[in-house]
This record gives sequence, structure tokens and C-alpha cells, in this order.
Amino acid sequence: MPSAPAGSLLASAGGPFWGACDPWPVLVKLASFPDGRFAGSDGLSGAREYVTESLREAGLRDIGGFRFPYIGWTRGPAAIRWRREDGHLQDEHVIGLPGTPPCEALEAPVRFLGNGTEEVFAAAGKDLRGKWCWVTSEPNRKGRDLHRNEKYCRAVALGAAGFVYERHLPGDLEETGSVGWKRGGAVGAIPAVAITFERGGRIRRAGGLSHPLTMTMRCGNPPQTGEIVHGSFGPSGKNVPLILVGGHLDGHDLAEAAVDNGTGIACVVTLARWLAASGLGLTHEVRFVAWDCEELGLLGSRAYAEAHEADLDRIAVVLNLDVPVGEGAPALVAQGHPELLESLAPLVAATGDVDTSDRITCASDHLPFSLRGVPTLCIENHTSDLRLGRGYTHTRADTLDQARPRALRNAAAFAASVLGWFATRPRVGVRFPPEKVKALFAAGGHEAALRAQGEWPW
Ligand SMILES: [Zn+2]
Repeated sequence: MPSAPAGSLLASAGGPFWGACDPWPVLVKLASFPDGRFAGSDGLSGAREYVTESLREAGLRDIGGFRFPYIGWTRGPAAIRWRREDGHLQDEHVIGLPGTPPCEALEAPVRFLGNGTEEVFAAAGKDLRGKWCWVTSEPNRKGRDLHRNEKYCRAVALGAAGFVYERHLPGDLEETGSVGWKRGGAVGAIPAVAITFERGGRIRRAGGLSHPLTMTMRCGNPPQTGEIVHGSFGPSGKNVPLILVGGHLDGHDLAEAAVDNGTGIACVVTLARWLAASGLGLTHEVRFVAWDCEELGLLGSRAYAEAHEADLDRIAVVLNLDVPVGEGAPALVAQGHPELLESLAPLVAATGDVDTSDRITCASDHLPFSLRGVPTLCIENHTSDLRLGRGYTHTRADTLDQARPRALRNAAAFAASVLGWFATRPRVGVRFPPEKVKALFAAGGHEAALRAQGEWPW
């Protein structure tokens, strides 16, 4: 959204000029907590206190924390030992992937599956049994692109001994990300590590994959308690429609988790401040939420949706802010609910250069709600360059350096205009019955992926 200044967008939502509601200092603060605000870490506890206090200071009510138990994950050292063609054994740095069990000097042959498409896994079949399944993060441009966790789950189902995830982009960065999580955070079945593009390439060029690899990966899987911070604004009562505005507060432990998802939470906090100061006449209750354990497999939003079943009919829309920034156009992804985009059409036309789609996506906190038929809308920013994959997120380069104040302010202003639009009009979103949801997910091509990950609920 490079063309439209923040003020004009907020004017279209009926609110005040941006003024004191600047998301940048919020992001700077969020990026200052240690451990990347990883689930269960001291950094996340500190960030949670900061967000709670910010919502309180903004004037929200019913500030609280929804708690849930889960199996956590703590990082230890990891390395692969491989054999060069001259017989020399060499140790290579790797990192453990959250959600997996530790292993000690586990030796097995390797099967390299490239970027791990559905077809490649099917062709490998039983040959994967007892081997390291080695795949890359390279996106599949010729067909369905498998999420990291689907690749892991397919390797588990085919009897692999372990999983190696090689980043497809240069920069000597390992790409972390959880695998193997089930509801409640059950530990994955086999150990998994990530390796950089350069190290993976070096091992392959030296013929290292034609000999057994030995892996040692240390980690902990302690029981923990997650907490989702929330606070409300606007009218209340069981007949008042509800808008949930959320992003995940937890990040990955390699860096500051500034982009993923400091940017989303900076917007959530800013929207709370803006809405509370706006003086807008609201037709909806607006509940601001900071999800926990998204990076461990949406554990927080899953637990929250399950515990709030009685409230789900009241939700007019869940607005999800998971990395809403970027260099491209702002994007609205309406998750099978075109009525949301029809309502927003005048706003989109006034804003200009907005990507809209009602396609269904799965890998963020809106999923537990959309699987239950609740209208959800992801506010994103699309780059057209697929080669970039997830960029620097999930790596040790996800620091404040990758964020841009103007992009963040534009993202917050755009999200404010969307929130203001829905919150001041009659209810738009309606909950779909299970048969309709099942048909939408099937038509969207998600059945194979959700089944492979044990998440197909029907
Ligand atoms: Zn994220």
C-alpha cells in the first residue's frame, strides 16, 4: 500500500488521524524481549505483561488471560556427522526443529527427496523406511506446495528414522519451524533438524548422502502452560456480534521474531489504542487477542476455539494479523467467506491496489475458527516473488533490521480501516454449517494436506 497515506485510510474508516497511534515503538519494544518470545520462555512472559498493560492503558475492559496446558520444547545443541569421499568424518552444525524428540548418535542412511512434493513422497514409498528423509524448503511451482509439517508427517507415515530440512535460500541460515505437533502439543515421532543451504550443498557435493549420517540432537519436552492475553472494547451482551482481532505473540527462539510476528502484534496493540480513542459508534464488541503457541502448531488458538464453542456463533469475523507487512500490496484472504469481501468492496476500491481472495489457507491462528465455520479474514501483504519463500522469518535474521517503519504504519492503517469498517456496520459474517465447511476445504484442495497431518476433522 505504498500510495495511500495512513490518514486518508483512517478517514475512510471514520476514525481520527493516525497521530499518537504509532505501531513502530510497539514493535521496537516487542523485539527487545529475549528468546524471540518463544513459547514458554521468559521473553514471552515479559512480552505478555507488556501487551496486557498496553491493552489496559488503552482503556479496554475484561482484560484477562486464557490458560491452557501443552507439551513444550526447549533447545539444546545439535550436529550431523557425515563421511567425506576420502573417508574423513566431519561434523556439521544443524539445529533441532521444535516439536521433535531428542536423539543421541542415531545413525541411518539418507534418502534425498528434493523439495518433497506429494508425488516424490509417493514414489519413495517404503524405501524411506529406516532412513533420514532429507527435503528442502524450495516451493513447488508445478503443483501443490507442501508445508514443512506435511513433509515431516509424510516421512513419519513412511517409517523414516529422522527428518532433515534444508533451506533453499542462501545466507547460511537454518530455517526453523515446528513439526509433529498434535492437539495439546504431543511430541513428534522422529527427530528433525534444519540445515542451511550452504552446508546441505557441501555435504551433497562431497557425496555425503551416499553414506549413513549420524545425528545428535538434544532438546527438552517439558509440560508447560500457555496463556492468551485478551481485552474487549465496545458494546457487550450475548446478542452483540463479536469481532476477534488477533495475532500470535509467540515467535521463534533464533532471533527477535520481529517480523513474524512482532509486526502483527504491534498492529493489534495499535488497533486497540486507535479504536479506544476513535469515538466510533460500534455495532460489535471488539476483542483484541494475542495468541500463544502459534509457532508450535496453533496450540493456543486451537485450545481457545475449543473452549469457546458456546461463543462461536456470536463471532462475526476473526481478523488474523500474521506478518501483515511487506513490500507488496496489502492483501485480504477471506477463507471461503466471499460475503466479507463483498462488504469491503467500497473500502477496497477507495484504497486501491489491494489483493483480495476468498481462498482458504491453513498455517495460522485463523484455522481452528475457519474449520468450525466461523468467518475469518487474514490481513497480509503479498509479494509476487515465490522464490523468497518465507524470507527471513523463522531464521536468526528475523530481527528489527528486516522491518520498515513505513511498511508497518501502512499495514496498521490498512488493518484499522478494515476493522473500523466491520465494527461500525451491521453484522456481515455468518457461521457456516459443518457440511459446507467440509465441502469448501475439499474444494480448496486441502483434504490431502490436512489428512496427512492428522487434522482433517470430518
Ligand atoms: Zn507467523
